[in-house]
Amino acid sequence: MAINTIVYQSIIEELKSSNTTLVAVSKTKPISDIEALYNLGQRDFGENYVQEFIDKVPQLPQDIKWHFIGHLQTNKVKYIVPHVHLIHGVDSLKLLKEIDKQAGKNDLIINCLLQVYIAQEESKFGLDEAEIEAIINELPNLNHVKVVGLMGMASFSDDENKVASEFKYLQSIYTKYSKLETPNCHLSTLSMGMSGDYKLAIASGSNMVRIGSLLFGARV
Ligand SMILES: *Cc1c(COP(=O)(O)O)cnc(C)c1O
Repeated sequence: MAINTIVYQSIIEELKSSNTTLVAVSKTKPISDIEALYNLGQRDFGENYVQEFIDKVPQLPQDIKWHFIGHLQTNKVKYIVPHVHLIHGVDSLKLLKEIDKQAGKNDLIINCLLQVYIAQEESKFGLDEAEIEAIINELPNLNHVKVVGLMGMASFSDDENKVASEFKYLQSIYTKYSKLETPNCHLSTLSMGMSGDYKLAIASGSNMVRIGSLLFGARV
């Protein structure tokens, strides 16, 4: 178990020119690997599982910005809200309302990304356009969440045209809603791209990539 320093540094260099934020996805990886990347200057880390998230947070430096990128169940929101910097996977109004409620209890405002369904051939989580619209309409009633962007996962496929078209579709929705400027909806983050497809994602306007295995090695 070791991080790939050379790959890390080359990705950082690559992202600089497009002003893209790297979220280092550390799910299933040990504390020592996260510390190693932290010591190279990395501050944004992403986790997928609530139990693992709450185990890791107190063991690591407080200036880490924790991203919750996994599928989040409503009944677990309360455990992550006090520690999270950005929740990427908001895929229902019910979930957003629960985040709002728990954030209120903690006197916080939580930044969220709406997860959009873009992978045509796979059953991944995410909202369709009608559901996005419904959430946007509900936002004036929520005081402890901010929608700051969108997130999506493309099909797991070697077909670059297909993956690129899925990213372009998400970019078009992002562009559409970027025109909105309400107190708790102002899109500035487009989270798309993983180890296998982050270059295509950046070419389609991503400004936040979530990279795990390229940095930390394959997961078992
Ligand atoms: C695991 C995961 C990643 C990172 O995947 P890699 O292929 O290891 O880079 C990114 N985003 C989400 C939502 C994930 O679950």
